[in-house]
Amino acid sequence: MINLTFLGAAQTTTGSMHLVEANGLRILLECGLFQGHRKEAFEKNRQLPVDPATLDAVVLSHAHIDHSGNLPTLARHGFKGKVYATPATYDLCDIMLRDSAFIQMHDLEIVNKKRAQQGKHLFEPLYEQQDVEKILSRFEPEPLKRQVDLGSGVSLVFHNAGHILGSALVQLDVKRNNGTSRRLLFSGDLGQPDQPILRDYDFPQGAQVLIVESTYADRNHPSEEDVKGRLKGFIDDIHQLKSKLVIPAFSVGRTQQILYHLNRLTEAGRMKPTPVYVDSPLSLKATKVYTKHRECYDDDASDILRQGIDPMKFPGLQFLETPDQSKALNDLPGPMIIIAASGMCEGGRVLHHLQRCVGDPRNIILIVGFQAENTLGRRIVDRVSPLRILGDEFDLNARVHTINALSAHADRTALTRWLDGVKGSLERVFAVHGEPERVEAMTALAKERGIANAVAPVVGQKFENV
Ligand SMILES: [Zn+2]
Repeated sequence: MINLTFLGAAQTTTGSMHLVEANGLRILLECGLFQGHRKEAFEKNRQLPVDPATLDAVVLSHAHIDHSGNLPTLARHGFKGKVYATPATYDLCDIMLRDSAFIQMHDLEIVNKKRAQQGKHLFEPLYEQQDVEKILSRFEPEPLKRQVDLGSGVSLVFHNAGHILGSALVQLDVKRNNGTSRRLLFSGDLGQPDQPILRDYDFPQGAQVLIVESTYADRNHPSEEDVKGRLKGFIDDIHQLKSKLVIPAFSVGRTQQILYHLNRLTEAGRMKPTPVYVDSPLSLKATKVYTKHRECYDDDASDILRQGIDPMKFPGLQFLETPDQSKALNDLPGPMIIIAASGMCEGGRVLHHLQRCVGDPRNIILIVGFQAENTLGRRIVDRVSPLRILGDEFDLNARVHTINALSAHADRTALTRWLDGVKGSLERVFAVHGEPERVEAMTALAKERGIANAVAPVVGQKFENV
């Protein structure tokens, strides 16, 4: 018997968390940070919807913070089980969770300073570095395709999800008293096929129950979008105008994809020598993890390696580590490319660069990923002006462009192809990780492909005996 309770990323894309109860085991799929309005996020992330002490295990599909970022809170409040993830996911969590704790402590200091001045009580941190250490010590890295016994007749197998380094599809098999078993498949985040570096998603067979992401269930990425051609065009423009190309990008995944494209342009002799600054200490660490885990590479990236070329390096590339190095860019003339986190412009060093750059019509802001509602990134895409950045207002005069083809999420066609590939024995589909109209599009898609029992759960909704 399997019960499912959807605790996060239901009718939204953030705070992924689903509880699987099977044969008496309580297994949490993901433990993501909720991101959004500051106050709402602050409260939601603190109020864990499950008692961590009652959990037997966590299974983590990939390292993105909206899937992994609340794991240390579990450790802080009594979680004693194991966290199953792939080896690359473990290495990425090692750097990302430490970074997350650092950012939270830093943000909290600022908030508490204000509160102290106002005579208000001070907030506790969501978690601290010691909680990160605790949860990291509970990780059990497991490679793809290996069957892992979780006890009580429940076993786990990871398959490739093709989304970011180490990302996995989660397959849970639950033995029943009558000798049969029931298979649950969870997509985590599905990657768009043919993206650089990573192998495409697998098609695990035999599942009866599917929990599937829906981020882009109602739309396709432009099919003929020539990413390298457009990048080259923007680079030519900033050479001509001596200006800056600012690319807000998540440190893990998107940044490495962009570096790969710039490497390809350089190797093909199509890119003029250009200073490229990756302004994020986390990006440097993440790129090192990408370099280490070559078992995740696709044939093209493996071929490039065999030619003795590091697919994420090229002349002119510099990783900036200290805030002083970051600030020094302010005084340098263009042309230059600045790649900085965060990807939705909700924090990180990109904010300082945007403050400096959005007012100048010669500059280009290049948006390369999904921008959630209520984020600064979404307001830039919507060309809201003036923009409020770190408390001050700035006119948006810079050019804003979007390259959707760099999305790490599968689009409608890719989701359909994947669903068709795994649907053989499917009886039920639960659509998660999408804004309301997207999860509805996913359930409609599942029905169209012959799975009548497809629903989009709301947060807190429980389904028994699936
Ligand atoms: Zn993700």
